[in-house]
Amino acid sequence: MSRAGASAIVVGSGPNGLAAALELARAGVSVTVLEAAATIGGGTRTSELTVPGLLHDHCSAAHPMGVGSPFFVAAELERYGLRWCWPEVDLAHPLDDPAGPDAVAVYRSIEETAAGLGADGERWKRVFGAPSRSFSDLGEDLMGPLMHLPRRPLALARFGAPTLLPAALLARAFKTPAARALWGGVAAHSFRALGAPMSSAIGCALVCAAHAGGWPVAEGGSRAISDALAAALGAHGGVIETGVEVRDFSLLGDAEIVIFDLAPAAVAEIAAERLPARVARAYRRYRHGPGTFKVDLAVEGGVPWRSEAARRAGTVHLIGSLAELVQAENEVNRGRMPERPFVLLSQQYLADPSRSRGDLHPIWAYAHVPHGYDGDASEALIDQIERFAPGLRERIVARAERSPADLSSYNANYIGGDIATGANSARQLAFRPRMARDPYYTGIPGVYICSAATPPGAGVHGMCGFQAATRALGRLGS
Ligand SMILES: Cc1cc2nc3c(=O)[nH]c(=O)nc-3n(C[C@H](O)[C@H](O)[C@H](O)COP(=O)(O)OP(=O)(O)OC[C@H]3O[C@@H](n4cnc5c(N)ncnc54)[C@H](O)[C@@H]3O)c2cc1C
Repeated sequence: MSRAGASAIVVGSGPNGLAAALELARAGVSVTVLEAAATIGGGTRTSELTVPGLLHDHCSAAHPMGVGSPFFVAAELERYGLRWCWPEVDLAHPLDDPAGPDAVAVYRSIEETAAGLGADGERWKRVFGAPSRSFSDLGEDLMGPLMHLPRRPLALARFGAPTLLPAALLARAFKTPAARALWGGVAAHSFRALGAPMSSAIGCALVCAAHAGGWPVAEGGSRAISDALAAALGAHGGVIETGVEVRDFSLLGDAEIVIFDLAPAAVAEIAAERLPARVARAYRRYRHGPGTFKVDLAVEGGVPWRSEAARRAGTVHLIGSLAELVQAENEVNRGRMPERPFVLLSQQYLADPSRSRGDLHPIWAYAHVPHGYDGDASEALIDQIERFAPGLRERIVARAERSPADLSSYNANYIGGDIATGANSARQLAFRPRMARDPYYTGIPGVYICSAATPPGAGVHGMCGFQAATRALGRLGS
């Protein structure tokens, strides 16, 4: 079978599904994408969730892994309308210990970051300087399966060494509570207990991505990323059908290639007895991580931050000290709701004013909560913001909330509110969704999985989709 005569179906139009479809279409395959929801985009949708004129990102907000994604760069998404916008400060971490600074921050420039870290500035450069410089060159080595023949083995080994450490241990490389808290907040994007092995992996990648390309937002909202992917796909003859939920394999006809942008359990359900028993078992055993409680706010005049860095930052981490963060993440990982959860907040409008209406601004925030948490975390989340920005509540004009259950009915990939489509345990960081030489192959000829449950994991970068499509093309006709 030649590529030009082949047909493919991609189930799910998240950034990975669209990336897989685009890579196949660019190779001459005739591609149809089937999407359950009424709109495309998966975790990259944007709309007016609170009041007319305010653009809220439903899911992804900042895109450190998107701006440098080898696939997005090669796809020239800017030609299809995507424009990245950078905030002045990529990330701020406010603090309330009167003995220290009122905030620390990560800037794209490692020098500027170090300058704000006092005695720990040089140490920050020592830990993250070399890996940040090699980050862009390591692109495909980092953004694919762990088990592969690296293009730059030495640089990769140097990059990889600190990622094996528990984040709480790597924090000891810094002497000041402020630098330790800053590092911890980035590491906590993994949703792991910070004392767990390899809990530094995602944090190291995010710090290096910050110094390599920043944490930008997409102009007009994250939907601009999926709109650009869809436009590129259309230009190569691909077709997208929305409102089609695939529950039965027979709906997929006789396409030579099928790629699922879905969680492993959903693939097991749809493929049923077609799946080899050992693969079905692995997909059903695949573990999901803690949940997310999301709150979007419309705020008159913006958040009244105490610290200058937070006022200028695209992303703000709200927890205070490393000790508080370690405790909150431990509780969440043990299935208990912390009194003061870790809250991540984005002010995309600072880099992209098109999101606001006059002086009314959209604020995006979520708290880490236990898997499947069925309580209301919205007040605890707002309390954490208020702690570093007294007076916030009086400025809130409207709000919209999504619990873990709401998130999983919004998108079947977010089981129990797990927005990473899989726990970032050491095992699943190394081998996801199962231990196999080709983690994208399902064991059914021509059928692949490409969601964030595959390497390199969560985030908007399209690399899971690209990797799955590359393997599908490689095996076509063999
Ligand atoms: C609240 C939140 C905040 C986030 N913040 C960030 C961030 O700031 N930066 C970042 O990089 N990432 C962020 N992420 C993560 C990011 O959005 C995901 O990792 C990414 O979207 C995964 O892409 P995907 O293509 O694998 O799957 P998804 O984007 O989840 O897309 C899967 C698609 O498949 C569809 N689907 C599911 N089941 C079926 C079916 N049976 N039939 C047909 N279609 C189906 C779904 O409707 C969905 O459109 C966030 C996610 C959430 C929820």
